[in-house]
Amino acid sequence: MDLNPAVQKMSLSQQQLGKGVPCLRCKGICAGFEPHSWRKICKSCKCSQEDHSLSSEVEDDRKIGRLLAESKYSTLTARVKGGDGIRIYKRNRMIMTNPIATGKDPTFDTITYEWAPPGLTQKLAIHYMELIPKEMQPVTGTEGAYNRRRQLMRQLPIYDQDPSRCRGLSESEFKLMEDFVKKYKSDALGVGEVALPGQGGLPKDEGKQQEKNEAAGSAVPTTNGNASDSQKEVEYYCEHCKQATPSDCPVVYADRVGYNRQWHPACFVCAKCTEPLVDLIYFWKNGAIWCGRHYCESVRPRCAGCDEIIFSEDYQRVEDLAWHKKHFVCEGCELLLTGRAYIVEKGKLLCPTCSKSKRS
Ligand SMILES: [Zn+2]
Ligand SMILES: [Zn+2]
Ligand SMILES: [Zn+2]
Ligand SMILES: [Zn+2]
Ligand SMILES: [Zn+2]
Ligand SMILES: [Zn+2]
Repeated sequence: MDLNPAVQKMSLSQQQLGKGVPCLRCKGICAGFEPHSWRKICKSCKCSQEDHSLSSEVEDDRKIGRLLAESKYSTLTARVKGGDGIRIYKRNRMIMTNPIATGKDPTFDTITYEWAPPGLTQKLAIHYMELIPKEMQPVTGTEGAYNRRRQLMRQLPIYDQDPSRCRGLSESEFKLMEDFVKKYKSDALGVGEVALPGQGGLPKDEGKQQEKNEAAGSAVPTTNGNASDSQKEVEYYCEHCKQATPSDCPVVYADRVGYNRQWHPACFVCAKCTEPLVDLIYFWKNGAIWCGRHYCESVRPRCAGCDEIIFSEDYQRVEDLAWHKKHFVCEGCELLLTGRAYIVEKGKLLCPTCSKSKRS
């Protein structure tokens, strides 16, 4: 059954609203997600949409496909059959089957990683996973897989990529956003690569070949025994923590930054929020790597009301926060506060009345 893309898109965005799903954070207090008309929160409990339900896996793959399409990373995407040129993320899932040696009959333990760095041998990919915190390992059915999907929503909001998913852009703002997205795809967007220290940027086959040779070398004893002498001479250091990276532990490379620098897998984090970069997707700016959210915010202001990037020059600013003029509204009673008294408390915009009632 082939749905036409417009219909597919519609049913996806309806799913994404997640109407009626209870809030995980409020545990029983919120009976069901009631989307606010322009804030990305639940009207009944004020928690975020992510606290109720995450976008579907298909939608995540489409979002990342869209992000990487028409960039130099488009090889990580594939065309959707009959999808009118839509590209989907070729996410590298990894399935591991381990025999469990208990008793006589071996049983098999299958672990699925919802994402793993592409182009590696399974041995190196597993080693990479062991080097990141357990709660970040995207194993199906675990906290790690949930955290990955949450990070995809948080670090790479769809409304930072697709102007048609923003609410109320004027025609000229729509055009500005299209240019904004084009520019970050050509100048900043990158996807980290995993390799052993000193092997970043080598053609993948060569890297694998080298690893094979090493494996063979350890299995078959040789008489000269000095195969690793040349490796000992060069020491590599992590860009983030400045500690050495052991020669047998995989590191992350970022081609925008250059293959002379590397990161420990757990150190490949956003310069602003220090969150590990989901699926190694980074944005390079001013000598640092950023997540998509914080890169976009560093280029243009983000509205503290609707969470979208502001493309109009006419907006309200208070200290380091910004609002679309029409979203400069009290979070308690929704009164428009332009030209009125207001209070900003912990990033929340309130009228004096709501501020007082909150304190009492
Ligand atoms: Zn709710
Ligand atoms: Zn809630
Ligand atoms: Zn480090
Ligand atoms: Zn960040
Ligand atoms: Zn707004
Ligand atoms: Zn109020």
